[in-house]
Amino acid sequence: MATATLTIDLDAIAANWRALDQMTASDCQTGAVVKADSYGLGAAKVAHALARAGARRFFVATCEEGADVRRALGSGPQICVFSGHMEGDTALIRDFDLTPMLNSIDQLTRHFEALGGQPFGLQLDSGMNRLGLEPGEWEAVAGFALEAGPELLMSHLACSDDPDHPMNTEQLGAFRAMTDGTGVPRSLSATGGILLGPAWHFELTRPGIGLYGGRPFEEARPVVRLSLPVIQVREVEIGEPVGYSNTWTAEHTSTIATVAAGYADGLPRTLSSRATLYAGRVPCPLVGRVSMDLITVDVSHLPEVPETLDILGPHQTPDDLADTAGTIGYEILTSLGRRYQRRYGALAA
Ligand SMILES: *Cc1c(COP(=O)(O)O)cnc(C)c1O
Repeated sequence: MATATLTIDLDAIAANWRALDQMTASDCQTGAVVKADSYGLGAAKVAHALARAGARRFFVATCEEGADVRRALGSGPQICVFSGHMEGDTALIRDFDLTPMLNSIDQLTRHFEALGGQPFGLQLDSGMNRLGLEPGEWEAVAGFALEAGPELLMSHLACSDDPDHPMNTEQLGAFRAMTDGTGVPRSLSATGGILLGPAWHFELTRPGIGLYGGRPFEEARPVVRLSLPVIQVREVEIGEPVGYSNTWTAEHTSTIATVAAGYADGLPRTLSSRATLYAGRVPCPLVGRVSMDLITVDVSHLPEVPETLDILGPHQTPDDLADTAGTIGYEILTSLGRRYQRRYGALAA
């Protein structure tokens, strides 16, 4: 079979959630961000595993994602939607019991007119200038918005992956200025904010990438292994090229394995002649261009060519691969292709 296998360790995701939960006080709840199909790893399976670990509040980007997570979880857990209440969302919010995080005066008006009794939260802009009410808008509507009983006041940090960035304290100050004394539960921190310390925790945190084994949560357990089948092995002589545009030429007689995955499966072309694959623990360099469905790997040094080579696993995390590709682990994960056979279970050593 020329289909690659993506193994996703749900126990490791649950363990990462518990570890992040332990970093905050017992009266601070730990939510779970499962947007973008749980960063590409399967929202239904991941949400289920996290609910079993104790998560009670889930966050998604859109109401459609929220409906999928509700189908997986059944009633009970709260499902919050970052994009809020958009035109056309009313039926989904009502039917799937979603909690929109309203982000503008338009959305407040739409929500109160369409679904007055339905729970909601509010997003405030503390400086990132992406989503949420600006301080001036908030001042104008805080009275009646608070009267309506929001479940949560939230904002988002722009630079929390860098603990020394002055923006972290600036946003903390701005958020507190908008929310101190309201008595409403507050949330400011994603994974990075949890690591900044208790001042950033408030009543609820919203980790995403840390659950999936990514930076800046360095102690995270690895969550994914991506094993690519070797389709063919050949000897190439000195001077022979490999792959599109002849970008790599053998300098010695070499053994080249052609493996099944390419940029159509989310392996960026910028990995061409730069990435490393692993035969167990033994690194093997990717040579030549990444093509749509295939990559070529120099396995000359292996005593025996294995049936598969790993491009993600305990020896190379999505962040490591992202460093080589010139992107971030989030993008590697959310680009993982649809063609992989997905297995949920432990990552063998
Ligand atoms: C994506 C997102 C999160 C999760 O962020 P991580 O860095 O993945 O932990 C939290 N809050 C908001 C508003 C987000 O958009």
